[in-house]
Amino acid sequence: MQHFNEEQFGSDNYSGICPEVLQSLIDANNGSAPAYGNDVYTHEVSNKIREIFECDCEVFFVFNGTAANSLSLASMCQSYHSVICHELAHVETDECGAPEFASNGSKLLLAGGENGKLNPTSIEEIATKRDDIHYPKPKVISITQSNEVGVVYTLEEIKAIKKVATRRNLKIHMDGARFANALVSLGCSPADMTWRAGVDVLSFGGTKNGMAFGEAVVFFNKALAEDFEYRVKQAGQLASKMRFISAQWLGLLNDGVWLKNAKHANAMASYFSTKVEGLDGVTLMFPVEANEVFLKFKPEIEVELKKKGWIFHAFIGGSNRFVFSWNSTQQRVDELINDIMEIVKWQK
Ligand SMILES: *Cc1c(COP(=O)(O)O)cnc(C)c1O
Repeated sequence: MQHFNEEQFGSDNYSGICPEVLQSLIDANNGSAPAYGNDVYTHEVSNKIREIFECDCEVFFVFNGTAANSLSLASMCQSYHSVICHELAHVETDECGAPEFASNGSKLLLAGGENGKLNPTSIEEIATKRDDIHYPKPKVISITQSNEVGVVYTLEEIKAIKKVATRRNLKIHMDGARFANALVSLGCSPADMTWRAGVDVLSFGGTKNGMAFGEAVVFFNKALAEDFEYRVKQAGQLASKMRFISAQWLGLLNDGVWLKNAKHANAMASYFSTKVEGLDGVTLMFPVEANEVFLKFKPEIEVELKKKGWIFHAFIGGSNRFVFSWNSTQQRVDELINDIMEIVKWQK
């Protein structure tokens, strides 16, 4: 088993807990508190989330993003319904069928779209493909913000998707594992990027932004939250010592730490991409709009970079993914840049 002491950019999940979150955990580790979410931290952070979203939403906490996505989709679907998502969506490619499992069989219907984004045309195509009883009825559109290739939906794009949703009677779910990265990229308010643009339910990610674990599920459409706490419990996602998820969220949301963390991660991605884009044998695959950079290397470059000890993952189209975090250091990013430049020079 490899143990990485050196900073790597394989995933934002490689990063640790940010100091403010850790301090908040330590502060919460004081005496006793009621279990299963009946504690002051959970109460306080739920109100904080309502304040941030400027809305009387329903808030729940689960252990990870797969649970947040699957359970929220299940709350919107009967087993004979379907969910329209992009073919690259995490719910399709990285959740081991959990959305289908949690919903007792709701099918994911895959749509295309440039840069990992659904668009009104690609959604319409899937939504109107069939209207007979032999095919699962589309019920939800799931979009990822920022998405699986590090691209961000603009507010106009989300609103355009909402128009299709209204026309076809579909709900909108947003996978916000990297919600903060998208938010600071657009520079808009959380409300503008969600319910004001037509989002019904949000999987609100905290882990990649600086927590150890624990995602929130935020229902702007409160009717959909009916009995959701039972679904969470049945799925084994109700934390008995809930205060240690809630306290982490407080550490992240208080004083804008989540925005600071996301801005730093995005800035590192942007810095890295501007330095390596256009080097001989290095191609930028997608616009860099959040904290991820996808590069296609000439095969020799990839091999040499791995020999130098860098850890990164292959992604679609033969690209390689580099992800930056709240604690990525510019010094280490420069080391990566220099190694790539050196290999490129040597290859000539
Ligand atoms: C990381 C991630 C998730 C959550 O994954 P878990 O490993 O289940 O926490 C969900 N959606 C996207 C797009 C992600 O990148």
